[in-house]
Amino acid sequence: MPDRVHNFNPGPAVLPREVLDECAKGAVNFNNLGMSIMEISHRSKDFEAVLDRTQKDMLEIMGLSSDDYIVMFLGGGASMHFCMVPMNFLREGQTADYVNTGEWSSRAIKEARLFGNVNVAASSEDSKFNYVPTTFKLTPGAAYVHTTSNNTIYGTRMTTFPETGGVAHICDMSSDFLSRRLDFSKFSMIYAGAQKNIGPSGTAAVIARRSWIEKAKDGLPTMLSYKTHLKGNSLYNTPPVFPIYVVGLVLAWLKNNGGIDAMEKTNQKKAALLYDALDSSDGFYRGTVKPDSRSIMNVTFRLPSEELEEKFVSEAKKQGLVGLKGHRSVGGCRASLYNALPVASVEALVAFMGTFRKAN
Ligand SMILES: *Cc1c(COP(=O)(O)O)cnc(C)c1O
Repeated sequence: MPDRVHNFNPGPAVLPREVLDECAKGAVNFNNLGMSIMEISHRSKDFEAVLDRTQKDMLEIMGLSSDDYIVMFLGGGASMHFCMVPMNFLREGQTADYVNTGEWSSRAIKEARLFGNVNVAASSEDSKFNYVPTTFKLTPGAAYVHTTSNNTIYGTRMTTFPETGGVAHICDMSSDFLSRRLDFSKFSMIYAGAQKNIGPSGTAAVIARRSWIEKAKDGLPTMLSYKTHLKGNSLYNTPPVFPIYVVGLVLAWLKNNGGIDAMEKTNQKKAALLYDALDSSDGFYRGTVKPDSRSIMNVTFRLPSEELEEKFVSEAKKQGLVGLKGHRSVGGCRASLYNALPVASVEALVAFMGTFRKAN
């Protein structure tokens, strides 16, 4: 195998080469302390500086103020927030609005039903989640509205978000976080598992309005209460130190490479290259979702038969193009094009797709 393959994994996923080199150093001797970042106290000033810098960079990249927003890094992945959100914010007798656009939204809905009423404000389940709804039946006075910005498994993304009026909007942005410009100030809370676009697995970033967190229920188990982590600034207990360190390096890389707007431009370009290859293949490669719902992070497609799909994935792998198998629940093929994936990787994939099509 070459030093680096073309990595289309859906998550954990490709990270910038520079970040890996830097964290390899920090994994052995951090800040010249004669200790690894994994060997120092989470309450040391060296780690506090890492956390502080990472939180500041996050808010700067998103265009948010630390007077209004807190950045928390919690264990348990994005899935933890499927239950923590309703546990903290859905009171008995209240209704929460959920937009159901795929597997992850469905899991979030299942958890919310444990705590209160759920109104599915829109759903594309009846057409196998191959598009994203653009009209929503919201509940007046709902506890909150929950959406999923990008559907990793089905390959769709939201461009029209619900206008929630005064109701808090909570969004699972795991698979397209910091990949495109959104008005982040419209959200009361955003959460994202780090392993798709901003780091390794082991932590989820939660960016939330401080005033929203203060409205959370009291009397919850300490570790499952957002208030605990707001008060403790993610240091109530030992946080995921190493993942936070790597997220910090990814955010520094992102800033050095032009921030969200530059990422979005490159991401558009990568997605256009690949979708053009699908659309100009005379039906050999078929995109699985409606064009106006296409994700620029996860591109899902089918070949004429399952046998050809298997052959495609395994021959691609031999050419150093890895991670192209679709999610086990839907089959087919999927290429994930996260921020750290170079344009050259998409060009290599498109070239391989041309060769494979001619040969088959
Ligand atoms: C991957 C993913 C999750 C689950 O993340 P974990 O960190 O594994 O819990 C949730 N939501 C979306 C949109 C995802 O892509």
